[in-house]
Amino acid sequence: MTIIGIDLGTTNSACGLWTDDGVTLIPNRLGEVLTPSVVGVDKNGEIIVGRTARQRLINHSDRTVAAFKRLMGTDHKVKLGKQTFTATELSSLVLRSLKEDAETFLGEPVTEAVISVPAYFNDNQRHATKLAAELAGLKVERLINEPTAAAIAYGLHEKQEGLFLILDLGGGTFDVSLLEFFDGIMEVHASAGDNFLGGEDFVDAMVDDVLREHRLRRDDLKPLTLQNLYLQMESAKRKLGPTDLVLTLDLGEKTVEHVVTADWFARISTPLLLRAKHPIERAIRDAGLHPSKIDDVVLVGGSTRLAIFRSTVGKMFGRLPSCHLDPDTVVAMGAAIQAGLMMRNEALDDVVLTDVCPYTLGTGVINEDNPRLGSYFLPIIERNCVVPVSIVKEICTAHDNQTELTIKVYQGENRLVEKNVYLGELSVQVPPAPRGEETVDVRYSYDMNGLLEVDVTVHSTGKTYNHLIEHTPGALSEADKQKALSKLSELKFHPRDGEDNRALLARGERLYESSLGDRRDYIADVMKQFERALERQNPAEIAKVQKQVKDVLAQLESEDWF
Ligand code: ADP
Ligand code: MG
Repeated sequence: MTIIGIDLGTTNSACGLWTDDGVTLIPNRLGEVLTPSVVGVDKNGEIIVGRTARQRLINHSDRTVAAFKRLMGTDHKVKLGKQTFTATELSSLVLRSLKEDAETFLGEPVTEAVISVPAYFNDNQRHATKLAAELAGLKVERLINEPTAAAIAYGLHEKQEGLFLILDLGGGTFDVSLLEFFDGIMEVHASAGDNFLGGEDFVDAMVDDVLREHRLRRDDLKPLTLQNLYLQMESAKRKLGPTDLVLTLDLGEKTVEHVVTADWFARISTPLLLRAKHPIERAIRDAGLHPSKIDDVVLVGGSTRLAIFRSTVGKMFGRLPSCHLDPDTVVAMGAAIQAGLMMRNEALDDVVLTDVCPYTLGTGVINEDNPRLGSYFLPIIERNCVVPVSIVKEICTAHDNQTELTIKVYQGENRLVEKNVYLGELSVQVPPAPRGEETVDVRYSYDMNGLLEVDVTVHSTGKTYNHLIEHTPGALSEADKQKALSKLSELKFHPRDGEDNRALLARGERLYESSLGDRRDYIADVMKQFERALERQNPAEIAKVQKQVKDVLAQLESEDWF
């Protein structure tokens, strides 16, 4: 009986097995060891997984989905053509494809696996991963934390003890973990990261800069032309070394020659590299450590191939990080080694010490200046808070003589409430009064098992209301699910927004998503002003505010905030 090791990644997945000669990575049906974690449905309703699905992301975007790992453990459903899927179901389709490839490679059925998960995954997310495997016909012998898998691949568990920092920069996420190995147990200490920073941001920045240089907007390009531009930039990013690359770019109305130099790439990468520094500093600070106490810094994830990322990390620590293993398969290798150890009953114990809340939890508050834009998201528990955690925020009534106040609970990182995942709601009675006069305390308490308790206390009456949200798949009613679903499919932009304004709004949203605390509030204020100007539809004013917003965002993106 063979147990395979699987890295079920946000961008790419891979699998391997343990043999007498060490780890063998299993090629897929195209002969590649990486299978993009992308699922699509073709016009006949048939499922496509992997590279082919990835190629359809731009021109069949309504029938193709990537990065669904971010939604694991939620009830959020993704619509592909006429069908809808949960993240668990989508993951099971990727796992099934890996399982079939392993069976072809081995010439025998494969029914058991060790699967890696991010260290910050909570119980629900781990449960959802096991369920996905089950749906694919795989029994999960063990889940392994991704940083632990990387450490094992580097053989760090063969040392007596040690403190290791694992930096994992993938396609869209950056995870920082501090591991302590002692007495045969790998303990994952601090876990920090940026859920919205990865290799794709570098390509986005390259495309943006080229378009800016030629005074073009994304909308000016046909989808296929834009897709080609992305592919050319992705490939240039991977090839870039000390020698310049000369590219011929088709920009629709014209064809231009573009020289990709290390200097150009360094300039556009700077804001992203600054952002990457924050969680590294935070993980070390949270652990109360001096960087010199760390025995090894290990680089994981395809994007750590970027020379500029390696040198940034090298400068931070004053030494070279470990990166001699292939960074995009190192987690799969570690999972395969653990699978081998399992077969010999020698599996390594691996525990997470500080559990963190992986998403921001909050509620909706009325956008008073502009009710037409819907509600804003008020974060209550911010992502990466160590759990258990309990936080209170005060909110007030929005209308005169309002007698009922409904607290809707959402999970997500978006500034606009509708773009986050709805979890449930609680209504409380308040005495009639002029708007803003009645206030309530909203307390969110979140525990290790993903249980969210919402307590609301009405100040004037002293009455307390309580609601428990079992934040587990299946906990939402069918009606709630349908509501969340139709909201999602109704998402559309107001036609008055020009593409450049839309792009600027998106840039602000992205920055909001990747920020926390005061910085988040500041961005929300700036964006609110911008939306107000757009609403008034005065071109001169819009132009003026647009310039201000651009300056503010550029400033925020470039500054080292900690
Ligand atoms: P995930 O853990 O999110 O599944 P991976 O570890 O597979 O992701 O990393 C995928 C990312 O790695 C992509 O954004 C890809 O562009 C980037 N990448 C792969 N190879 C290279 C390279 N040679 N240089 C720079 N980036 C690379
Ligand atoms: Mg990964």
